[in-house]
Amino acid sequence: MPHYSRLLAPLDLGFSTLKNRVLMGSMHTGLEETRDWNRVATFYAERAEGEVGLMVTGGMAPNREGGVFPGAAGLYSDTDIANHRIVTDRVHDAGGKIAMQILHAGRYAYSPDCVAPSPVKSPISPFPPKELDEDGIEKQIADIVTAAARAREAGYDGVEVMGSEGYFLNQFLVTHTNKRTDRWGGSYENRMRLPVEVVRRCRAAVGDEFIIIYRLSMIDLIPDGSTWDEVVQLAKRIETAGATIINTGIGWHEARIPTIATSVPRRAFTWVTKKLMGEVGIPIITSNRINTPEVAEQVLADGCADMVSMARPFLADSQFVKKAMNRQANLIAPCIACNQACLDHTFNGKLSSCLVNPRACHETELLYQPAGTPKSVAVVGAGPAGLSTALVAAERGHRVVLFDADDRIGGQLNMARVIPGKEEFHGLVDWYDAALESAGVERRLGTRADVAALTGFDEVIVATGVLPRDPQIDGQDAPNVVSYVDVLRGGARVGARVAIIGAGGIGFDVAEYLVHEGTSPTEDLSLWKEEWGVDDPEKHRGGVDPQGPQPEPPARQVTLLQRKASKPGKGLGKTTGWIHRAALKMKGVKMVAGVNYERIDAQGLHVSFGEARERPTLIEVDTVVLCAGQVSERSLADRLAETGVTAHVIGGADVAAELDAKRAIDQGCRLAAAL
Ligand code: FAD
Ligand code: NAP
Ligand code: SF4
Repeated sequence: MPHYSRLLAPLDLGFSTLKNRVLMGSMHTGLEETRDWNRVATFYAERAEGEVGLMVTGGMAPNREGGVFPGAAGLYSDTDIANHRIVTDRVHDAGGKIAMQILHAGRYAYSPDCVAPSPVKSPISPFPPKELDEDGIEKQIADIVTAAARAREAGYDGVEVMGSEGYFLNQFLVTHTNKRTDRWGGSYENRMRLPVEVVRRCRAAVGDEFIIIYRLSMIDLIPDGSTWDEVVQLAKRIETAGATIINTGIGWHEARIPTIATSVPRRAFTWVTKKLMGEVGIPIITSNRINTPEVAEQVLADGCADMVSMARPFLADSQFVKKAMNRQANLIAPCIACNQACLDHTFNGKLSSCLVNPRACHETELLYQPAGTPKSVAVVGAGPAGLSTALVAAERGHRVVLFDADDRIGGQLNMARVIPGKEEFHGLVDWYDAALESAGVERRLGTRADVAALTGFDEVIVATGVLPRDPQIDGQDAPNVVSYVDVLRGGARVGARVAIIGAGGIGFDVAEYLVHEGTSPTEDLSLWKEEWGVDDPEKHRGGVDPQGPQPEPPARQVTLLQRKASKPGKGLGKTTGWIHRAALKMKGVKMVAGVNYERIDAQGLHVSFGEARERPTLIEVDTVVLCAGQVSERSLADRLAETGVTAHVIGGADVAAELDAKRAIDQGCRLAAAL
């Protein structure tokens, strides 16, 4: 295993030294809002113990009007300071360093009291902001400075002033949101006055020996965003104003270009921060879609930054840095950038966690303690439910035998990972492979387990997954009809014109698979930039190509259908659904809702619409792909029950409806913790 000499090198800030070049970036987890400060402290202390160089908390509001939502956590009173001290003490006891992010949301605040430079409503909020007057601006600055001073009092090692992602300070910088004609608007000098003033006054308030990170939007990804020249000017002025470090922000929240989803190539934006290297004398941190020590090390080797920020990877594995130090990078649980248990939870008002690691943000409740009495455990099925059970059970000291009928582990993850844009699933399966080996799980692959094979074990776990649902459509046995399994596993031949029956997660993925040919844009940055219309901010304001997205032509003509009248893709992830819909739209995929499937014949798929089965329509296609959902594979569970063997049934074998890897892994880990 390599040693990552650049990533693990200390960073001397003059008055303080960070032990390595890894920043745990700010994440809103919802933990602070639980008001259980022991829980918050345990979350950060575990990551400090895992040797990360510096952590940044989730955004803390400097005042009520600046909170992302009403009741957002902040530092308003002496009680708040005492609560935050519980966190900073625990982090310092674990040998770590932590900075508090000050986040003023401006017009992104989900509240009728939100304020902004100008009354320009954001497309992602229903509330038009109030325009601030001179006194109002002074109040906002004073509140941010007070928050910084309180952070110091609460024992933080520094603050991060949030100046990117389209939040309050960022809103002053661009004419898109700043229409003012006073000294806070108009010329760029005036527009950057607020962020520079905030940093200058924060520095004056906290003294020299306190970290001030300024998070600077390097590529806004919105029309009328900053030019590169403006980014450089701002960076220089922020340095002069007293910042210790510049961190990177990529894209405003309202941007219609994905920035952190799994289909974004790894390290997709490090070329942007590289352009700023040498322009300022203080360290620069790069970020976005960096999730392994190899990639982070390469980013530093390529001179793209002085330090690397990773946020979600610390939900997936709190011990990321320690494992890299101990040459166990293959045992780092990978963040697959799915957003399913972190950002999607946040936007649904739920506590964050992690698909790969259900302990994230549940550290005080989900405990993997050494087993009192080691047992022999049989796990049937090496999909995510079985894999997570086997791993946690073995790590707790049980003797685990894992069966799968397939000759490799992964279950349906092996279908997910062939989808263009889902390549991160390769890393998830590889991690399970390495971690099972390390934990001493015995594998019996290529073995369909039956009742006889499972006798003699103390515990039997059935994680046999699902089978494709039979939609019982007239003509579905014809040779021009295949299932998603035939396509993704069996390499079934699919013609140039395709109808997909079922527009759930799998229908969308199969459509993505069929419209692509050759290299996946996720694995080729220049293809991906063309696909989404991303360009150099030196050429176009905000880095948005005025010609818009220019994807490769679709490999096939695809129609995606569902019976429900609702918008196809409505059930996809809250923060990623729009990306899937936009990606397929760009490839000309036709989405048809509210259909009845009448029959399939050599001409194609015959459908009608509505309860009265009106408008009989032939969709002329060469191939029909069935993606009509799934049912539990319970044959083994049923046979075990008949013979009196008690078994735990989990994952898709338990409940197939709305099953995903997040639920399968969560259920597996929780069962294994209790064995
Ligand atoms: P499975 O993964 O189905 O695994 C069951 C395993 O049991 C199989 O390996 C099978 O061979 C084995 N088995 C069955 N019977 C026996 C027996 N008698 N003996 C031995 N072995 C047996 N989920 C997400 O959360 N996010 C996504 O982005 C996502 N994308 C997907 C994309 C595609 C194309 C597909 C097909 C699925 C996707 N999913 C996604 C869904 C996710 O993969 C499933 O929800 C998950 O795999 C279910 O886990 P499981 O362990 O219950 O079952
Ligand atoms: P799904 O999301 O439940 O979708 C099933 C689709 O089939 C729906 O469009 C449904 O729509 C249709 N359908 C159901 N019964 C049918 C029938 N009898 N005849 C014809 N059509 C029928 O299931 P899935 O797409 O198979 O995905 C399985 C699980 O994997 C999902 O729960 C999903 O969460 C997970 N997954 C997640 C992702 C992700 O990105 N997070 C990606 C892939 C899969 P109508 O009933 O309206 O026709
Ligand atoms: Fe990463 Fe997905 Fe876990 Fe979020 S839920 S931290 S994106 S693996």
